[in-house]
Amino acid sequence: MNKNLKRQYIRYGTKKERKDAVDTEAFAVHLLTIADSYRTSDIHILPEQKHYDIYFRLNGQMEKQYYLDRDEGTRIISYFKFLSNMDVGEKRRPQSGGMTFQLSDKAIDCRFSTISNYQLQESLVIRLLKQKEEENQSPGIFFTHEWNKLEQLVQSKAGLLLFSGPVDSGKTTSMYHLIKNRTSGEKQQVITVEDPVEIEEKTFLQTQVNETAGVTYEHLLKSSLRHHPDVIIVGEIRDEETARMVIRGALTGHLIVASIHAKNAAGVIARMQELGVSTSLLKQTLIGVAFQTLLPLYCALCEANCQTYCTHYARGRKRLALFEVMSAKELESITENKGSEREPESILVKREFNHLLEKVFMNGFINEKTYKRYYISNA
Ligand SMILES: [Zn+2]
Repeated sequence: MNKNLKRQYIRYGTKKERKDAVDTEAFAVHLLTIADSYRTSDIHILPEQKHYDIYFRLNGQMEKQYYLDRDEGTRIISYFKFLSNMDVGEKRRPQSGGMTFQLSDKAIDCRFSTISNYQLQESLVIRLLKQKEEENQSPGIFFTHEWNKLEQLVQSKAGLLLFSGPVDSGKTTSMYHLIKNRTSGEKQQVITVEDPVEIEEKTFLQTQVNETAGVTYEHLLKSSLRHHPDVIIVGEIRDEETARMVIRGALTGHLIVASIHAKNAAGVIARMQELGVSTSLLKQTLIGVAFQTLLPLYCALCEANCQTYCTHYARGRKRLALFEVMSAKELESITENKGSEREPESILVKREFNHLLEKVFMNGFINEKTYKRYYISNA
């Protein structure tokens, strides 16, 4: 950590307090080093009645890693709050912050957020942003058919390609990979608009939202369009304004690849309409929709989803991506049917995603619990 910050942090207090501060720092470094080596996406420091538990999210599941007594827990949370410029004394209001943490051999970018329960016990979540080395790893996939379809779609000169899927389903990795493949061997300008930038990619112009500095999605998108890039990657379509600009970009000859929150591929259409995009504009711009999930692999050695320490599936390969991809033609049947009956779209979705999920299950790649968990029900 930054030497000045460290000095500032341990300068005050009694001898015991100073010792605790040093212990806290050592533990913080240890915690982040271990978390990074496990490739966890986030660390949760959660209060229990009389102590704190620390969990890592590994392969999509929360795994308990550490037990801290109440003082230790409070101290480590205060420490991270201090480092990431949050108000250490403030416990009522949820806060967020970020910082780059220097470990012995590398720097990792972290995002922090706190929230308190009604008893004013704070919990802290640390998000570890993806590191450089992971970016070169192609996403592990179940079916090449869908992936090939996506590779074809990103060859389009212009249009809108939308991704959806749960949090931590690898959407960014997929978008980056597809665009990187498209642009390999020739100079094309790719601009990304994200909050935050998760994967570093030298060949892209990566921009990041900074609300406190007044740099919003809208601003960045507007200036990106003025740059006339070949491709724009948009981290998330969150509101009507971004939806409108994404459509404008697609209409004016850019390929826009964006993610949007929706329960399934068909839900993407509904969400865009909800954000004020008309069916005819969608028809003119949308070239495809992908819905992506990462499924934990069943391991015969673990007799469960493959665990962190098991070597049967390599770390970072304990989950594979399942895609549902719909091209413009397939999407047409959805947009056509929209407004009259909801029935046809749900039948379509059921056949597509659930059918593939079932195939994965029947082949023994995932267990029944996973199958049931990811099955998209009609409700
Ligand atoms: Zn295993």
